[in-house]
Amino acid sequence: MKLNTRFMTRNDCYQAGRKITPKGIMIHSTATPGVMAGDWFSRWNKSFRAGEIGRQVCVHAFLDDKEVWQYLPWNHRGWHAGGDANNTHIGIEICEPSGFSYRNGFQMQGYNVSAQSPYFRKAWQNAVDLSVMLCKQYGLTEKDIIDHTEGNRRGIASNHADVGHWFPKHGESIASFRAAVGRALRGGGSTVNRSTFEVGDVVEIKASASRYYPGGPTIPGWVKTDSYHKITQVQSQGRPYVKGGKTCVLLGRKVDKRNGRDTTGILTWIDRDLIEHVDPAKRGEPPEQKAPAQPTSDTIYRVQVGAFSEKRNAEAILRKVKDAGFDGFIRKD
Ligand SMILES: [Zn+2]
Repeated sequence: MKLNTRFMTRNDCYQAGRKITPKGIMIHSTATPGVMAGDWFSRWNKSFRAGEIGRQVCVHAFLDDKEVWQYLPWNHRGWHAGGDANNTHIGIEICEPSGFSYRNGFQMQGYNVSAQSPYFRKAWQNAVDLSVMLCKQYGLTEKDIIDHTEGNRRGIASNHADVGHWFPKHGESIASFRAAVGRALRGGGSTVNRSTFEVGDVVEIKASASRYYPGGPTIPGWVKTDSYHKITQVQSQGRPYVKGGKTCVLLGRKVDKRNGRDTTGILTWIDRDLIEHVDPAKRGEPPEQKAPAQPTSDTIYRVQVGAFSEKRNAEAILRKVKDAGFDGFIRKD
């Protein structure tokens, strides 16, 4: 996370000079497509009293996919909530990307979810990292984080739709945001890219995982032990891919544990909760145990043993295959 600091000393909010003891964090999003964090300084470092700006507003920080700009000291009373939350909460605005517009108030029009996904994931991660930093600094936890809408429901903020009009487009919510901050707080160490999965991430499947997703196929042992996997899709047709109630990602490439070379993978969707990032320092090192022989090209030759109309017949054959020492699986067409 790149944190820049430049206080809006011309803003009446800064001039008012009131201090708070931060008791929570309020997450907002700007509803202003394409205006990035650094752009807000010249827009808002103005005095309402002097007639330079049309509204009385100031927030502690704006962030986008690249950086965070802090515009007020964290313990300075901000003007972001339109209610009593200003006395208790640090306000963070997540900037929204360009390429869409608003209609009927808070309805995003022409928002292309898959095209916006890289921006969203990076901005999300910056918001997680900043929240983690502030939680540590002020002795807060993820439970102390709310969005503008929740503030309104509690009667401490004005009636705005952020961030519930935006996060769900990417399969997230303010609740999953809290969970990500909580994981990062408890995980300790580096929080960067630990809580979200993106295309290109190299992951391994947890040893405890048994099926790819609830009700899905069983994961063969070699899929867990022989290689790492690279994520090639986090969405299908512009939407999060949900199987068995779990959001999944596609493992489209596999990465050799010994030399880091990647080849065509298992091409299977898997529940995000069953995978974890591989420490880049670990990749390319020899595995702890000797890996069995692997195909050396991208081509995979599959052996089909039989096709059955009765599931129990297929299961009986699969047992024989496994008894003979081979990994197999049943596919339903
Ligand atoms: Zn807001």
